[in-house]
Amino acid sequence: MTTMKNFIPYLIIPVFLFSCSPNSSENSSSEFQEEVQSYLNEYNAVFQKLSYQSSKAHWASNTKIVEGDTTNAYNVKVADEALAKFSGSQENIDKARKYLENKDKLDQVQVLTLEKILYNAANNPEIVTDLVSDRIEAEALQTEKLFGFEFTVDGNKVSPNEIDEILRKETDVSKRLTVWAASKEVGKGLKPGLVKLRELRNGTVQALGYADYFSYQVSEYGMTTEEMIQACNQMIRDVWPLYRGLHTWARYNLAEKYGEEVPEYLPAHWLPNRWGQDWSALVEVEGIDLDGVLEEKGAEWLVRQSERFYVSLGFEALPPSFYELSSLYPLPDSVDYKKNNHASAWHLDLENDVRSLMSVIPNSEWYETTHHELGHVYYFMEYTNPDIPPVLRSGANRAFHEAIGSMMGLAAMQKPFLANLELIPSGLETDEIQTLLKEALNYIVFIPWSAGVMTHFEHQLYSMNLSENEYNKTWWDIKKMYQGIVPPTDRGEQYCDAASKTHINNDAAQYYDYALSFVLLFQIHHHIAKNILNQNPRSTNYYGNKEIGIFLHEILSPGATVDWRELLKEKTGSALNAKPMLDYFQPLIDYLNEQNAGRVHTLSESI
Ligand SMILES: [Zn+2]
Repeated sequence: MTTMKNFIPYLIIPVFLFSCSPNSSENSSSEFQEEVQSYLNEYNAVFQKLSYQSSKAHWASNTKIVEGDTTNAYNVKVADEALAKFSGSQENIDKARKYLENKDKLDQVQVLTLEKILYNAANNPEIVTDLVSDRIEAEALQTEKLFGFEFTVDGNKVSPNEIDEILRKETDVSKRLTVWAASKEVGKGLKPGLVKLRELRNGTVQALGYADYFSYQVSEYGMTTEEMIQACNQMIRDVWPLYRGLHTWARYNLAEKYGEEVPEYLPAHWLPNRWGQDWSALVEVEGIDLDGVLEEKGAEWLVRQSERFYVSLGFEALPPSFYELSSLYPLPDSVDYKKNNHASAWHLDLENDVRSLMSVIPNSEWYETTHHELGHVYYFMEYTNPDIPPVLRSGANRAFHEAIGSMMGLAAMQKPFLANLELIPSGLETDEIQTLLKEALNYIVFIPWSAGVMTHFEHQLYSMNLSENEYNKTWWDIKKMYQGIVPPTDRGEQYCDAASKTHINNDAAQYYDYALSFVLLFQIHHHIAKNILNQNPRSTNYYGNKEIGIFLHEILSPGATVDWRELLKEKTGSALNAKPMLDYFQPLIDYLNEQNAGRVHTLSESI
């Protein structure tokens, strides 16, 4: 470049003036870039090694649980402490900060990597080692209390699954009340831990300059707390008219079913879910017997079939190690250990060691779940490429990761897709409105809960210094406002009903991820249906379409090296919005208007 500039100045200078700095700083800038890059390479290598050790320890502790054996717990602690010590070290914090002072001299991926290094550090900064170890200990204790709690009804032990089953089926309101109240008892003992965790979580990240834990979690989206709250409120406003229709429909139907007066708000114990977050059990759709067909196919078929679906779009086959190292099916009775039954997907070494932990049995729920979990696995495989440094091998944001697999699960449940696989007869007649109603009672009902109740409560808790004497009052005020749900009896401050929800204790201050993932899911699905398949979004068949594969590849492969808002705009043509979700449910709106005509007990028209 120096040579060119000297010899043909008139032609070249105007072109390069905007993008090039003078030669002297050009050289020092590239030397600077090299210096930073060699630091980043070193960081990435150590980070990758330590997170692999941590992941392997966690994997063992989730897949082979031996009662009374503390080996796993010890290995997890050692590996996590090593990772925390490295990622939170003062040396890494100082270097990342120093290099970021001259970020205009670095490329975008370098800047994002340095910012991610600081983000990782803020969870475990060396300057507050005591706070960090207190927090890790308090979190472990809270988890133990939460999962070790024994629920009882009239002095008899009941499992959470049994509670859920009763809430889905029981029509005697007083029995429902007893069971609902029993499900909330766990919160009482968790309150002191939550008070303490609020202080420790805030204290840890404040050491690195974040205002509080909520804003720390939000910062991963490149957003301020205010922006995230606005985005959440907008999602709620968008779905409110439909939610209001579902709410009216539900309260009239339930009042009739239980033989009660129609209430002004929905009593919490009337709903088929402990938190009122999913009401889909209120509707049974007749006509499709997917469970019966899948049972004949067997559990292994479900996993292989999900893989075949991704491969049909042009993705690679899963590496053999996926099948060798994953834990995909329920354990046989003959073994003397247990495993975690909650489905998850793992990217252990941030390279090719991808695994899934599931307990697949051949039914429609697991059929959808296998597609969801493989969505995570294919996301891992896509951003594992030389252009993406290990530290940035994650989703465009946390919600994108959830959205992709959920979308593939939704697509795999649609009738043309099922008929193509001969899982249902082609041309099978089913009641589309009842199917949509059931889906809306899941997807739409979830938005005021996640973007409203959970997000606003945790915002109050972490950012607004919510008084310990008002946890329960605030929780119910917020539930009434966003969900139109009220407690069946007076719930004083001796209770802590918020803490009965897992995510308030674990994975704190990030529940809006799920609301965002639902909205994103419908945006991306709508784009695929309309612009690639030219099919009705309620009735698609993605199978075998290579163009969808290319489209998804372009979304997945950049990992976290791009701004998610730009990516969304570029790939779907629009910013984050719930319109595609509402379009999807449009036929339901007319049906609900008809059903609810003349019904006077409804929520207010706007929120
Ligand atoms: Zn997931």
